[in-house]
Amino acid sequence: VRQLTASADFPESGPALQTVASWETAWIAQNHLPAGAETTTHAHPNDQLHFVLEGDARIMLGEAESMLPEDGFAFVPAGSPHRVSNPSDRAISVVEVTAPGLGPGEPVDTEPQRPDPARAAYVRLPSEGDRTEAMPGFFIRWLASRDLGSMSCAAYVADTDPGSGGPGTHIHRFDQAYVVLAGALNVEIAGELHEVGAPALVLLPAGVPHRQWNGGHRAERHLALLLPQPEPGQTLDYSVDFTLNAAITGA
Ligand SMILES: [Zn+2]
Repeated sequence: VRQLTASADFPESGPALQTVASWETAWIAQNHLPAGAETTTHAHPNDQLHFVLEGDARIMLGEAESMLPEDGFAFVPAGSPHRVSNPSDRAISVVEVTAPGLGPGEPVDTEPQRPDPARAAYVRLPSEGDRTEAMPGFFIRWLASRDLGSMSCAAYVADTDPGSGGPGTHIHRFDQAYVVLAGALNVEIAGELHEVGAPALVLLPAGVPHRQWNGGHRAERHLALLLPQPEPGQTLDYSVDFTLNAAITGA
């Protein structure tokens, strides 16, 4: 569990990019832009997902410019030129997920390439996309998936009502991360209990038993990342019966 930096705690001068996790499957960074700041127009060798944590961002995807409010999302496929700017008068903070991650010495930027028409860049506003009740009191809204052209990272926003939660203790074959956006999320990771207040990142490497729920009295919201999303027909969750330091019994 890693606490994320509030915009107020970043230096006031210039953009700042802070790595929060670096895995083979993803590089997760928090990009802070003070009022009026902007990045250059650039492209990456891997796909990139942008999610606005704080403030109102402007993103240019190819020729198209969009305003992304808090909880706004953009998918930037490998090679696709893009630029993020902050036209507002307060700092903004954007979570950037580069998937797969970068190997040692691998450059972050690449020459822009001709876009693959099957995997176009897109934005998704907080009001867009279907919200489905995956479990009682646990709602998800997909932002990126294989169906939407994102092969290395799927993402959804989950809303958990007080007293509700995800499935019981389980594992995945893929790495998973949660960005806690609002309220607090209770997470049990390999038998350890955490109460994670926003903004924070929860890292769940493949094979680590976990479960999550909202034990508080306020609504909870997090961004979930699947690195990568299982292929169609593959199992998402494997239920496990996990007891720390349990005696081995049976013949
Ligand atoms: Zn970028």
